[in-house]
Amino acid sequence: MEQKLKYQLKKSRRVRRMRLAVYCDGSVVATAPQHLADSFIENWIQQKADWILNKLRNFERKGFRAIPKYSRKEYLQYKKQALLLAKSRLDYFSGIYNLQYQRISIRNQKTRWGSCSRHGNLSFNYKIATLEPHLADYIVVHELCHLREFNHSKNFWSLVAETIPDYKDIRRQIRNL
Ligand SMILES: [Zn+2]
Repeated sequence: MEQKLKYQLKKSRRVRRMRLAVYCDGSVVATAPQHLADSFIENWIQQKADWILNKLRNFERKGFRAIPKYSRKEYLQYKKQALLLAKSRLDYFSGIYNLQYQRISIRNQKTRWGSCSRHGNLSFNYKIATLEPHLADYIVVHELCHLREFNHSKNFWSLVAETIPDYKDIRRQIRNL
């Protein structure tokens, strides 16, 4: 194997053996016992390279489930729409929640629909412009609620439920896109 594999490495005191997981969004995560030397881990993972690549190829064949792909032209068009959409829906929902955000940015992300920084900046995937309105609303509300609850606690979800009572069902729909 000459090609270097990209993976995320987690070290844990609680695991005794190396673990490897390949996810349908194309990410590879290795978990190693705390005490193992990095060179050993690297070797171990390289030995599994064929297995990993095979898994990735399988996912690719089925199409990475996370989010569909678009051309550059479509991207620019959706990006504009996504910004307008995010602004208008944030105006609406921030009034209800009485929450203030700083900046909105629209990004081209492979696997995430949105994120919220600790400074109150919200970012959204340009593909929210391709979603049905109730799904896009959920993503906007989700990130907005992180301004008050920077976690996925019970409080966070009940905040979301104030405007999106069927959020569980919506999350399932988004996962199955
Ligand atoms: Zn979240």
